Amino acid sequence: YRAMAMEVDERPNISFSDIGGLEEQIKEVKEVVELPLTHPELFEKVGIEPPKGVLLYGPPGTGKTLLAKAVAHETNASFIKIVGSELVKKFIGEGAKLVKDVFKLAKEKAPCIIFIDEIDAVASRRTESLTGGDREVQRTLMQLLAEMDGFESKGDVKIIAATNRPDILDPAILRPGRFDRIIEVPAPSEEGRLEILKIHTKNMNLKHVDLKKIAKMTEGCVGADLKAICTEAGMFAIRDGREYVTMDDFLAAIEKVWAKKRDNKTDRP
Ligand code: ATP
Repeated sequence: YRAMAMEVDERPNISFSDIGGLEEQIKEVKEVVELPLTHPELFEKVGIEPPKGVLLYGPPGTGKTLLAKAVAHETNASFIKIVGSELVKKFIGEGAKLVKDVFKLAKEKAPCIIFIDEIDAVASRRTESLTGGDREVQRTLMQLLAEMDGFESKGDVKIIAATNRPDILDPAILRPGRFDRIIEVPAPSEEGRLEILKIHTKNMNLKHVDLKKIAKMTEGCVGADLKAICTEAGMFAIRDGREYVTMDDFLAAIEKVWAKKRDNKTDRP
């Protein structure tokens, strides 16, 4: 099951320059994850323990995974990703073992960043009545906490977790020595959207496209939406038999991506 349950990347090919509108977050992640990996002696000399884990929270598609991958890239660390909801849904009865395996592999591949997406699926506040499924979730969480408590904060394995629902997290995971740094990764501002658009149009053949105007028009869009808009705009050009992308392509693409976003919203239970 290992190959399906975790994604291992020896050195992700994402750098901080591929991330738009998250300067503050990048600065913070560098300080709490990168610095302890690259200059552990600083912490040693001053006599403080670097954080073991960082929690990123914010809406889907804002770049949490990108941030984690970029840190791994910049520190020459390998990257292991697991997804909380998959741990407890797809691998019933295996969640705790999988967590154990992930930490073991991380130590072998150190320096290493473990990225746990959707951590709320294994670490939400305890429900009153423990059904069979909840007990499985509980065991997975216990294993995660035990693994985190069991490794050195000065070591070269760091954990980055992500969630859209920080409000439902079990406070146990936020205790000192666990995920004791919390960084918000919000939807981008207009300026942030412009930066993200610049990143995703870097290799596109644009003709009279006003990215500033597009940034203004896309209030409420996250990075993933903006990337989709760029791709859709390119598709409109291809369908039209052109090798360049126009402002009209972008306007049509914005419409299309908005419509999809609206549908997804109404689909939600
Ligand atoms: P989720 O919470 O759904 O896992 P996420 O916050 O981890 O989402 P990513 O998976 O990092 O989001 O983003 C999805 C894609 O959207 C990225 O691969 C990237 O192409 C684009 N993207 C998202 N945010 C940004 C950003 N800040 N700058 C540039 N591209 C972005």
